[in-house]
Amino acid sequence: MAEKVTKTDAEWRKELTPEQFEITRKKGTERAFSGEYVDNHEQGMYRCRCCGAELFRSDEKFESGSGWPSFWEPAAADNVATEEDNSHYMQRTEALCKSCGAHLGHVFEDGPKPTGLRYCINSASLKFDKK
Ligand code: FE
Repeated sequence: MAEKVTKTDAEWRKELTPEQFEITRKKGTERAFSGEYVDNHEQGMYRCRCCGAELFRSDEKFESGSGWPSFWEPAAADNVATEEDNSHYMQRTEALCKSCGAHLGHVFEDGPKPTGLRYCINSASLKFDKK
């Protein structure tokens, strides 16, 4: 189980850029195709930008064409939490970092096999560790 990380907004603001703060702590969304990892094809681990938890692997990244880094499975099921999100007049499933609660993006059921899931994730919520 991931260790829980709890910080105030003021503390997060000191550690994150304004965009990273808005997305991870205030459930924002970066513009499609604007993030630094959309076209990243290097091998490695995508960690939580806020707390460093291992969230996604390059092995499960795929080309969704959506404009956001997309994965068909988390690195460890225990590290990514999901919650119902009914904001913006839509019914969606939000993906969050289980250890620090960072907003990552959303999960859709139109992904590739074997899971059929598409974790649509903001680059700003991730920090890539090249293998
Ligand atoms: Fe985190």
